[in-house]
Amino acid sequence: MSKDLTKKAVELLLGGATLVSDPCPYCKGVRVMKNGSALCVSCGREAKDEKTEQVIAQKNTTEDTLSDNLDQKLLDLTTLLQKEKDFEKQKQILHNINEIMAIKGKLGSH
Ligand SMILES: [Zn+2]
Repeated sequence: MSKDLTKKAVELLLGGATLVSDPCPYCKGVRVMKNGSALCVSCGREAKDEKTEQVIAQKNTTEDTLSDNLDQKLLDLTTLLQKEKDFEKQKQILHNINEIMAIKGKLGSH
């Protein structure tokens, strides 16, 4: 896996993209969904995926302390992800990032 792809995936996630539950059809890699197309973190292919439910994570500019903590956690995970070479662990980290994004989404939902 190339570092650039991991970086791009993280950037997408931080920009409101979500992890795709279905693996990449080409290499079974982890994919992130943004604007209706899923980018594979492993092979870099982008495929339209109509099956995948698109979760619209809305960015909210709340100055909540919890939100700040989550942002810090995201940064930590991002750093961790860039250093991690083990694919399974990267998957785990991406999963954690996605969980935090989901929590952030809930925080901003009202
Ligand atoms: Zn792939």
